[in-house]
Amino acid sequence: MKYKFSLSAFLLVVSFAAIASQPRKVLVIGIDGTRSDALQQANTPNLDGLLANGLHTFDAWHCGITVSGPSWSDIMCGVWENKHGVTSNSYTGSNYAQYPYFVTRAKELKPSLYAVQVTEWAPMSDLVSNDGWDQKIKVPDGAGTPTAAAAVTALANENLDALFVYFDAVDLAGHASGFNPSNPSYMAAIEGVDGHLGTVLNALYARPNYANEDWIILITTDHGGIGTGHGGGTDIERNIWWIGSGNAIQQQTITGTDPGSYQYTGFPYFVEAVDTAILRQTPVQTDIAVTALHHLIYDTGTNPEDVTAWDLDGKSWLKTITSVAEKPAELSVSVYPNPASDLVSLWFENKKNSRVNYAVYTNEGKLVNVPSVITSQNKLTLNFEGNADGIYFIKLNIGGNEVTKRVLINQTAPKGVATPDHDHSNCNGKH
Ligand SMILES: [Zn+2]
Repeated sequence: MKYKFSLSAFLLVVSFAAIASQPRKVLVIGIDGTRSDALQQANTPNLDGLLANGLHTFDAWHCGITVSGPSWSDIMCGVWENKHGVTSNSYTGSNYAQYPYFVTRAKELKPSLYAVQVTEWAPMSDLVSNDGWDQKIKVPDGAGTPTAAAAVTALANENLDALFVYFDAVDLAGHASGFNPSNPSYMAAIEGVDGHLGTVLNALYARPNYANEDWIILITTDHGGIGTGHGGGTDIERNIWWIGSGNAIQQQTITGTDPGSYQYTGFPYFVEAVDTAILRQTPVQTDIAVTALHHLIYDTGTNPEDVTAWDLDGKSWLKTITSVAEKPAELSVSVYPNPASDLVSLWFENKKNSRVNYAVYTNEGKLVNVPSVITSQNKLTLNFEGNADGIYFIKLNIGGNEVTKRVLINQTAPKGVATPDHDHSNCNGKH
C-alpha cells in the first residue's frame, strides 16, 4: 500500500467507535467565476437552503492562481499549484500522477467506490488524468439544463458514491459583459445556475435510500472576476465563497478571515506568502477535496490529513476529526512560522500564568528532544535545528490544559525569530 498511517492504536480504536453505519456520499458542485458579493445579492433560494446545515462563508479567499485550470485542480486534488503543477488552462505541467483527484485517493482505500463527473468545460474533461471518475460526462458549455439532467441520471444510480457537477454559465456571462453584481446578465446567470442546482438537489433528495445515506454537499467557485476577466490578484478576483452542507459537516459561519497577503507573484509563491495559522481556520479551495475524501473513507478510520504520502494541503471540515492535530482544543494556540526551518513560536492565552510544559513527537509518534529558546507566560519558542524535514506534533500542556499543534519543518522554509515580545495571543501569530 502506498499510504502510511500515523495514528496511534488508541486513536484508531476511538475513531472506529465513532463510525456511523450510514454510507457516506459526496456531491460537489462547481459554479465557475461567481463573485462572492454578487452571489450574496442574487436571488438563490436553493443555495440559501443549504447554508443552515453546516459550514458556509462568503469570505473565503483564493490562495492560488485565479484561473480555472489551476483553481479546479486545487479544489479537486486538495493541493496547491506548486504540487499539482497546473498553472494555466492548457493544463501543461500537470502532475496528477503524484497528486491526483480526491476520487483516486479514496479508491486507494475503497476501490469499489463509484464516482461520476458531469462537466460543461471541455479541458476539465479532456486534459485531466488520474481523476478517478468511473464516468465522465461532457455537456454543452454554459447550457445548464443538460448538465442538471445528466446529474439527475447519475443520482438515479443507487450505487453512486461521489458526483461532481460543474456549471460554467456565470463565468461565461462575466467574460461576455462583466463580472459585476450590477450587470443584470451576470446576476441572471447566477440565478439560472441556482435553478439547475434545485433540480439536482431534488434528484438527490428523491433517492430511494436517501434517508439511510449520509450525504455532504460541497459547493464553491474557482475565482471572482474584474471587468470581463480574471487571473490577477485583486480582492474581487480572490474573494470566493464556500458551502459545506450535511449532518457530517461542522456547524460554522466564517466571516472576515483572510489568510494573508498572497497575491500571485510567480511560481512557486504559495508557501512563503500565506499565514498558515490563519489558513488553518479559513475555508480555502484545497479543503473541498480533503473534506470530500475524508467523508468517503471515513469508515476506514483514516483522516486524509494524516496520510503522509498524500501530502495534502487542505483540511477536513467534518465534525468528528480523528487526527492528533485536530482534536478539539480548549486552548487557542497560534504557530508561526509554519512551515519553518528552525525556530517555531507558539502563542497562547495564559491569564493565570500557569506552568507551560511541552513534548514534541514525529509524525510516527516518536518523542524527540527539541529544546526551547523562550518559555514565557504567552509564548514558547522551540528550536528544530538539526531535525529532519517532516511533520511534527507539539503537545502543549498549560496548567493541565492540553493541546496538540502540527508543524511542518522544511529546510527551505523561512527562519523564525527568537525575540521575547508582546502578547500575540490575539493576533494569530501574524506579524
Ligand atoms: Zn473565466
